[in-house]
Amino acid sequence: NIRTEIIAVGSELLLGQIVNSNAQFLSQELAELGLSVYYHTVVGDNPSRLESAINNAKERSNVIIFTGGLGPTKDDLTKETISKVLGRELTFDVEALESIERYFTQTKRIMSENNKKQALVIDGSYILKNDYGMAPGMAVDIDGMIYMLLPGPPSEMKPMFENYGREYFQTKLGFQDKIISRVLRYFGIGESQLETDIQDIIDGQTNPTIAPLAADGEVTLRLTAKHKDEHIAQKLLNETEKRINDRVGEFFYGYEQTTLVHELNKLLMKKGKTISAAESLTGGMFSEYITSLDGASQIFKGSIVSYTNEVKEQILKVQKRTLEQFGAVSEECAREMAEQIRKLSKSDIGISFTGAAGPQPHEGQPVGTVFIAISMGDQNSNVFKLNLAGSRKGIRVRSVKYGCHYLVK
Ligand code: ATP
Ligand code: MG
Repeated sequence: NIRTEIIAVGSELLLGQIVNSNAQFLSQELAELGLSVYYHTVVGDNPSRLESAINNAKERSNVIIFTGGLGPTKDDLTKETISKVLGRELTFDVEALESIERYFTQTKRIMSENNKKQALVIDGSYILKNDYGMAPGMAVDIDGMIYMLLPGPPSEMKPMFENYGREYFQTKLGFQDKIISRVLRYFGIGESQLETDIQDIIDGQTNPTIAPLAADGEVTLRLTAKHKDEHIAQKLLNETEKRINDRVGEFFYGYEQTTLVHELNKLLMKKGKTISAAESLTGGMFSEYITSLDGASQIFKGSIVSYTNEVKEQILKVQKRTLEQFGAVSEECAREMAEQIRKLSKSDIGISFTGAAGPQPHEGQPVGTVFIAISMGDQNSNVFKLNLAGSRKGIRVRSVKYGCHYLVK
């Protein structure tokens, strides 16, 4: 029975300046490897407190993973302290030293003496290459205890663990299985509804496992399959994905780290269509999202932020009558906004956002009432009404996401 724990080293963590995202990442990775994590410890850049953290961990665990404090500066003391506690010397790793020297030659900088320190490793350890920085990581097995040291910056630590650390454990612990994950993303369905819809699949499933997570109005499912044959692991993922999406597929929009606006961008590119926006409550947020992606100029023509009725009427040319009769937060106004922006900008698609973002109701419409219209030329425009809950920010962000969702559906 392998008991694993993680010790994150760094005073910034204790001061609340950064979040211990390394521990979160590593815990997820270790769970996928089938290693149980029993403790997370955070300790400052202080050798004696780190020493006692190591001694505690040694008593109760057989795998200890450290992050942070491998760098060149004086407060980076992780290696030195571990070396002292374990009674193992630090020695220079020739390859690591060469790669640090190469880094300095390439960037035409002078290497200072303390940079050499980064090539010091615990004697007898297996080196984990750092492809995104200078300090190598390492793993060492001492009397059946495994110690793994990883750098602090997530941009260095994550690839190091994924590319070398994971394999170290798999080889060391004699795992034959390949572990493959797939993230499925959903929008327009709440976490509890989605979980209820597929509860029996989640419960009856061990390979792959299914882990739901909700954030920013979206739900993701992380499927993790294990098999010694990678193709079979992929097949297991495909089968489970299909079973899930037979039920909730209408809310599925993409894989891994994609976003709704990214999917929209891809779709418009593929179809060779252009879009423009008339934004009221979203104040340009849709335009900001869509222009943040590469190639936006091919699909996005522009937008009018028509926040006041004056701008809706005088610039966007929404009829005065519409505004007087139905108000700005209405199906009619949303429809005209979308049609007007499409015509004014000569785009294939016009989308509009109007609503009450709060905190006060708007023209008698309760907070969270949002109308989104999509105009596509000849056909009648579609208007969607939402009743959103939450903060002003949450309502505006989700309005934009719903807009993208309706367009990609
Ligand atoms: P460097 O060579 O950059 O000094 P290091 O291995 O010495 O790397 P630290 O000095 O401890 O690492 O931390 C460097 C940076 O990495 C921190 O400022 C922080 O941004 C990030 N970092 C460190 N530990 C964590 C952690 N547990 N979770 C998330 N980020 C972290
Ligand atoms: Mg450092």
